[in-house]
Amino acid sequence: MRIAVVGTGYVGLVTGTCFSEVGIDVTCIDIDTTKIENLKKGILPIYEPGLEEMVLRNTQKERLSFSTDLASSIQGCDAAFIAVGTPPGEDGSADLKYVLAVARAIGHHMNDYLVVVTKSTVPVGTAQKVRQAIEEELAARGADIPFDVASNPEFLKEGAAIEDFLKPDRIVVGVASEKAEDVMTKLYKPFLMNGHPLIFMDIPSAEMTKYAANAMLATKISFMNDIANLCEIMGADVNMVRRGIGSDARIGNKFIYPGIGYGGSCFPKDVKALIRTAGENGYEMRVLKSVEEVNEHQKSVLFNKISAHFNGNLAGKTFAIWGLSFKPKTDDMREAPSLVIIKKLLEQGAQVKAYDPVAMEEAKHSLGDTIQYGKDEYETLIDADALLLVTEWPEFRSPNFTVASKLMKDKVVFDGRNIYDAKDLNEKGFTYYGIGVKQPV
Ligand code: NAD
Repeated sequence: MRIAVVGTGYVGLVTGTCFSEVGIDVTCIDIDTTKIENLKKGILPIYEPGLEEMVLRNTQKERLSFSTDLASSIQGCDAAFIAVGTPPGEDGSADLKYVLAVARAIGHHMNDYLVVVTKSTVPVGTAQKVRQAIEEELAARGADIPFDVASNPEFLKEGAAIEDFLKPDRIVVGVASEKAEDVMTKLYKPFLMNGHPLIFMDIPSAEMTKYAANAMLATKISFMNDIANLCEIMGADVNMVRRGIGSDARIGNKFIYPGIGYGGSCFPKDVKALIRTAGENGYEMRVLKSVEEVNEHQKSVLFNKISAHFNGNLAGKTFAIWGLSFKPKTDDMREAPSLVIIKKLLEQGAQVKAYDPVAMEEAKHSLGDTIQYGKDEYETLIDADALLLVTEWPEFRSPNFTVASKLMKDKVVFDGRNIYDAKDLNEKGFTYYGIGVKQPV
């Protein structure tokens, strides 16, 4: 089989590469010529564990190629996946201009039957707009070429994207014809070996499924953060409460970790877009509005603890920050909570020295030289007034705090992810602040 994947970002590159891994001929297309030229040389635009080796392997086997030329790349394909960005517009709704531009280009250039699959996260009704855009282009050139649209939302997690794509919990596909269902079944058959289902449904339900999934996950995070804040006030320990509730199978122990708010390229924008879709259709998403509100508050929680500890005198203080990316194992800085904390510290005249295993280059695009970048985590600690653990990369989980205590000016740790043991830190002379636990320890 042969496919084209249009948009070679986090989702498109992983999707294309994983399809090529199972023997499908894939062309990944992007309008960013630098990105495509680099990919042809084996230089990846993003960090994702295991991706580089897989790209190189499949490029060498000539099952995976890269192009800026959509017109020629879609010829002879069974399906074209649209995996371009759907950023929030000013009103919070998903901006569909990139998706529809690709749909028009496909309609303009396709010469044979094709399943046009939306992989980008798009509101209910978008597949219909994609269909219309293609029909208009075909009509404009007097062509009568059959095609189908399908919705195939992506559920991969950055940092574990390959594993998620190769061994998905489920694959959701919205179709409106047997022919499209047949093509999608053939494409996804190699990924169903672990017994997880390929779930076919109507197109609007597939489009909604993605938003419902992300909205539910964001809700779990905000709920736990709300509970954590109350634990702090009431003298309870959220780490205990989490274990207590997580052992109830109806609740489950995943995704109930308190922290400093969700970020990234998906949860914030998808929650906003779903609230917006509902509003446009006369319905108010009350729970999700609160989810957003709690998240906004949570992004300030660590800063408020810092400010209180130093009695508001942050000018001239130096803060070591461990972790910049919005979560571990990715270089993605979109809506990263680190950016909010750093901005607040800098506004108060503090200095920041940060280290992240892979996201520092990406961080420089937004932070530039407003902060210093350490060559490793310990270097950031030299003469620091406090350490802020912001992203729980595995390498930060068990640092040598005896070494750290000798490097730092003041021994204070603000743990935004509750990964350290307060008792252990106290024994080494540190003051410890966590989320939803007794303050300070
Ligand atoms: P991204 O910004 O990393 O990549 C988008 C790519 O599309 C860019 O390389 C851009 O140059 C390219 N592009 C834009 N217009 C184009 C055009 N007309 N023709 C060809 N290429 C074009 O975005 P992403 O993170 O991969 O997200 C893509 C979509 O997938 C979004 O809708 C997102 O919500 C969804 N999604 C993302 C994730 C994630 O973890 N990143 C997970 C699931 C779903």
